[in-house]
Amino acid sequence: MATLRFLGACGTVTGSKFLLEAGSRRVLLDCGVFQGSRELEEKNWTAPPFDPASLDAVVLTHAHIDHTGYVPRLAKAGFAGPVYVTPPTSDLLAYLWPDAAHLHEEDARYANKRGYSRHRPALPFFDGREAARALEMLKPIPFHERVELVPGLAFAFHRVGHILGAAFLAVDADARRLVLSGDVGQRDVPILKDPETPDRANYLVLESTYGDRLHPGGSPRDELGRAVSEAIARRGAVLIPAFAIGRAQDVLYHLRSLQREGRLPDDLPIYLDSPMAVSAVDIYCRAASEHDVEMTALRDAGLCPIEGPSVQLVRDRVESKALNERTGAMVVISASGMLSGGRILHHLKRRLPDPETTLLFVGFQAAGTLGRRILEGAHEVRIHGQLVPVRAAIREISALSAHADQQGLVQWAGALPAPPETTFLVHGEPSAREALRGELRSKLQWNVALPEEGEAVELK
Ligand SMILES: [Zn+2]
Repeated sequence: MATLRFLGACGTVTGSKFLLEAGSRRVLLDCGVFQGSRELEEKNWTAPPFDPASLDAVVLTHAHIDHTGYVPRLAKAGFAGPVYVTPPTSDLLAYLWPDAAHLHEEDARYANKRGYSRHRPALPFFDGREAARALEMLKPIPFHERVELVPGLAFAFHRVGHILGAAFLAVDADARRLVLSGDVGQRDVPILKDPETPDRANYLVLESTYGDRLHPGGSPRDELGRAVSEAIARRGAVLIPAFAIGRAQDVLYHLRSLQREGRLPDDLPIYLDSPMAVSAVDIYCRAASEHDVEMTALRDAGLCPIEGPSVQLVRDRVESKALNERTGAMVVISASGMLSGGRILHHLKRRLPDPETTLLFVGFQAAGTLGRRILEGAHEVRIHGQLVPVRAAIREISALSAHADQQGLVQWAGALPAPPETTFLVHGEPSAREALRGELRSKLQWNVALPEEGEAVELK
């Protein structure tokens, strides 16, 4: 008999962490940090309700920090590995964790300078050394290969779309199967193969980010083309905040396709302004085993489907600032995706007051973030302590999201030949979880639970 303890992503879309205990064996499935509001981020500093050194292993569904950003912290607290990931996730984390460490170190330096931390001196959440130690613990495992974690506990990764390397987990505790969805991607999106579906599950832990929403019909590429064409007509900039990994590459792919199809000018300047996103472009291009048919055909024809002559990859901070001086039509893709930090902020400070600018959202904006406030119609926002009026056009293309919508989630889960005994909904805000529970009950007559943070359930 095993126990599953929900340690995050209950009623929020971040902080995924699920502790599976069977006898004296103990495995952590996903190991993310909370992101969004200050109250949520404060929670990252609370010690976990288990001894990190006692974990037998950690298994990660995909590279996003809200699923992986707590691992270096575990390393700091005595966890020695292993950490199982897919090979592309391993490649991505080699950039993500050191980058996160760098940001944490900068935060600590800033807090010490301003003297506002409760801790003296303020210490980084984790540092570069701890990130490096966590990277050494990674054990890349190909999709579909069954791994025995400890006697009686085994798992395999299966593709789930979303971002490069993302997996759902099929975990076997003796004869019982637990499926953890991770983040479920949409079907028929560029670059990556479609999500696979689980073939059986006694228990299912399912994400619910878009549990209360349907992506509008129509082609997201057409919509993107229209939004950018309008901006070209106004000779304005299009700012696209995007997660550095996943969205940034998808948006670039669509823009390059629109150029190839003659629907956007070949010489339209497109800036990818995020060192992390630039590194990830390279990893995306090299991951041939993960590419869908179209991407493979383009690659085989010698066409680089993501990079192109008018695409400029901006690594350098000075170059990034220099974009503020530029006028005329252009596209700037920059992180972070929910405007909670990163280079996008200085672009916003410069261009939000400008009515020619379009701010185009292509991903989920969590409660408490600057992105959500602007999307909900704020006329004025505070950035780096400065009040900035919002006069830019605000648009959203939710169909470009990395997450399946309500219908997509019901279809993905509904592909199971027999209903799970219980389906636990996680990784969604309260209204999204409740709406998805309603759908799963009415469409599939499933038994659905909404676990609270800290709750433990027995998987009998
Ligand atoms: Zn994700």
